[in-house]
Amino acid sequence: MVLTEEQYKRFMERVTKTDTCWLWKSVCSAWEEEEYGKMYGCYAHRLALSYFLQRNIMPGTVVRHLCKTKNCVNPEHLTEGSHTENMRDKIRDGTSKYKRLSEDAVRAIRYSDEPHRILSKRYTVALQAISDIQCKRRWKKIHGPTLPPPTPQSEPGNNPILPA
Ligand SMILES: [Zn+2]
Repeated sequence: MVLTEEQYKRFMERVTKTDTCWLWKSVCSAWEEEEYGKMYGCYAHRLALSYFLQRNIMPGTVVRHLCKTKNCVNPEHLTEGSHTENMRDKIRDGTSKYKRLSEDAVRAIRYSDEPHRILSKRYTVALQAISDIQCKRRWKKIHGPTLPPPTPQSEPGNNPILPA
């Protein structure tokens, strides 16, 4: 949506301008999507760019931050882009909730029966990332035992028959 002048005034009341960025005042958790402020049911940074362009954001397009400040709504720091470009930005900035975990970390998370909250803190990734890893919605290509390796004491006769 494109804000009216009146709505834009109210929008700007929630913005703190620094030397470069325009900071939207409500920011919560560093990892969740919800951290992007909303107004009138739309994301603040999308509203800012729409108003600047005086048209809606193209369907299927995401608004990327050219600066690394996620709650910035300065239209000069915003640009329309594809989802792929946006994911690339997030990885570049280390702000992706999936970050770049090592394969060992992914396996360790997959094995672990510790609470997600603890794992998410240890690896500094979102809770969602932990459950995505455990349910194999992410890093599907990383294989490995999904159960702890068998103890060496197990009797040879009890080994399951492996498929040829
Ligand atoms: Zn900015």
